[in-house]
Amino acid sequence: MAEPISTSGEPARIGSSNHRAGRYAPSPSGALHIGNLRTALLAWAFARAEGRPFVVRVEDIDDYKTRDFGLQQLEDLAALGLDWDGEVVWSSYRHAHYQQAIDQLTSAGLTYPCYCSRKDILEAPRAPHDPPGTYPGTCANLTEDERAERQATRDRPPAIRVRTNRAQVEVTDRLHPPQVQVLDDVVIQRFDGTPAYNLTVVVDDHLDGVGQVVRGDDLLPVTGRQIWLARHLGIPVPEYAHVPLVLNQAGQRLAKRDGAVTLADRLALGETVGDVIAAMATSLHHSPTRTAQAFLDAFNPTLLPRTPWVFA
Ligand code: GLU
Repeated sequence: MAEPISTSGEPARIGSSNHRAGRYAPSPSGALHIGNLRTALLAWAFARAEGRPFVVRVEDIDDYKTRDFGLQQLEDLAALGLDWDGEVVWSSYRHAHYQQAIDQLTSAGLTYPCYCSRKDILEAPRAPHDPPGTYPGTCANLTEDERAERQATRDRPPAIRVRTNRAQVEVTDRLHPPQVQVLDDVVIQRFDGTPAYNLTVVVDDHLDGVGQVVRGDDLLPVTGRQIWLARHLGIPVPEYAHVPLVLNQAGQRLAKRDGAVTLADRLALGETVGDVIAAMATSLHHSPTRTAQAFLDAFNPTLLPRTPWVFA
């Protein structure tokens, strides 16, 4: 079981020695919508069905002022009937850990400063099969003089990238066939000094003892980067289950502007929490159970759909 959290803000660590926990890790950018809630229900059910600890982590690395959204998200998760072990983790307290990981990669000779703007990257020539935005390696092999020259023309520090040498990483997933992802040189620290999500999530999952990552399948394409970072930091790689997203009627990722999509919105329409859980359970090809516990009791991952749910 988790240690009690200290009020100094250093998050509790749960079983980091054996890396078994499942987790849900929302970004506190607004109220959770039905797609987020459905992913949370699944992450909880996957973990609890296997007797794993379950961690909730608010990924507030970008903006410390999002605490209110984070607190609201926790209330919504609790209202659904989800529970978690230990105190909630807030990523913003972990900057020292992220810096340590960046320093570790740098000491191993795996990083370089990058002076490119987004525009430079989009305009640079790239291999025909690389999607737009793939980093073409412009700054990978600059001499010290070239670096100084580039720094002189700008008023902000460089970003930091890892040198992946176009590594090919095999990604295995409980809901997707195995795939090989070809990496470009991933940013681990942005111009403004903020550690990048692909780095923080790997460090956080390690600190939280996570052995199972269940999240939206929009993150499947960046999983290879995270596996690479974990391996080069000497961190165990968790198992993954990327679950289908919830889309709006136009086929785009559901967003708050799509109408009555948050728990509060649904309750304001006269629905109950049981109605919301039953709708989510049905969309997941399970019988319309009305509590999270009843969903868990009936949970069978082999029944899960592999395609998105269009929320009307
Ligand atoms: N914080 C991310 C999000 O809300 C999820 C990160 C993850 O699950 O790895 O989209």
